Amino acid sequence: KSRARLARKETSTTTLDDVAGIESAKRDITEIIDFLRAPEKYRAVGAEMPKGVLLVGPPGTGKTLLARAIAGEAEVPFFSISASEFIEMFVGVGAARVRDMFNQARKEAPALIFIDELDAVGRSRGTGLGGGHDEREQTLNQILTEMDGFEPHENILVLAATNRPDVLDSALLRPGRFDRTITLDRPHKDAREAILRVHVRKLPLADDVNLEDVAARTIGLSGAELKNLVNEAALTAARENRNQVDAHCFEVARDRIVLGQERDTQLSA
Ligand code: ATP
Repeated sequence: KSRARLARKETSTTTLDDVAGIESAKRDITEIIDFLRAPEKYRAVGAEMPKGVLLVGPPGTGKTLLARAIAGEAEVPFFSISASEFIEMFVGVGAARVRDMFNQARKEAPALIFIDELDAVGRSRGTGLGGGHDEREQTLNQILTEMDGFEPHENILVLAATNRPDVLDSALLRPGRFDRTITLDRPHKDAREAILRVHVRKLPLADDVNLEDVAARTIGLSGAELKNLVNEAALTAARENRNQVDAHCFEVARDRIVLGQERDTQLSA
């Protein structure tokens, strides 16, 4: 069936080493991985693991990355959909995709399902102007049905990302659905340094680069923006025919990214 192809399935090679600056969430994450690896250990003592966990945080803070890392560490298949894709689709397509994805995951359990941008379909119902959001509502209802329809012993974990937990339909947050939350904040200084370290791993870095200093001067940047900064520094090295990425390259990159951001803020102010 053609529909089934629409749900993406991958074998994740991402690990927790690729995710930096998330110390506060480490314990919850470790427990989830442990559960996916050895669900019988939890069942033996009558412990019930959550079916659904909400990953909450601003754009670019690593929600998708973390979901992949959990699948990679647990060595379970990773199924993903982005809820925003459903908005423009024909009525019924979103719901069918959700159903297919859960069926596929069930067959391959233990498995991890990742729903990106949950708020795109998960906004509280009945608040749309004049209703008419049939597709959105059907997709949301299907997600709720699927969450209720599998038992804890089926060893499926559903992670869903959102940066707007405040607008979610309360039905999603009931016990047995997304009843746990992991919050990813914009990184503070030490976290930014740790994230920079992850992304310079594969670069020929010059000795004059002080990442602590770079971290101190990149207040407000997200993980995705820091990754971008490192790439911009590497591009600068190539552009200027340097054989190492040095402090000058980071200076140029910082100017581009930080000033670029300030310009964007001014434009939108
Ligand atoms: P969005 O809400 O925009 O979908 P997101 O929170 O899902 O964003 P990701 O897509 O996971 O963020 O982040 C984009 C990229 O930024 C990641 O693939 C990774 O390279 C980098 N990144 C983000 N956060 C981190 C982090 N904590 N550690 C290392 N890299 C990070």
